[in-house]
Amino acid sequence: MAVKGNVPYDPQNVFARILRGELPCNKVYENDYVLAFHDIAPKAPIHVLVIPKAPYVSFADFSQNASEAEITGFTRAVGQVARILQVDGPGYRLLSNVGEEGGQEVPHFHVHIFAGRALGPMLPE
Ligand code: AMP
Repeated sequence: MAVKGNVPYDPQNVFARILRGELPCNKVYENDYVLAFHDIAPKAPIHVLVIPKAPYVSFADFSQNASEAEITGFTRAVGQVARILQVDGPGYRLLSNVGEEGGQEVPHFHVHIFAGRALGPMLPE
């Protein structure tokens, strides 16, 4: 079920539960600002999610309301995770789904990192 736009943050969403340690994850990286872990249903040979530790519903919420330090910390961490995954050379794709038409399912801002094969066209025709 896609997330409707402009909803308040739901502290029971699955990523909030992972951040609280109530659900497991296959962790790739963690720092003060972010947690990165493998997607449970990978759509590419490498499919990792990077999420801020603070509660933001979507990129729309994060870009408007996060502090400069959070935005910088998050952006640098996405690059760091790509380096950890060693996908800088061959390349990778970043994706963040926002709201209903964006196809967002989990209402906690996240960036997908896809890699491990040629990823083809950006969107289905
Ligand atoms: P989105 O459609 O952008 O909201 O993507 C949500 C992603 O979260 C999907 O790719 C799911 O496979 C992934 N996901 C959902 N639950 C979990 C979980 N417990 N651990 C890891 N990934 C998950």
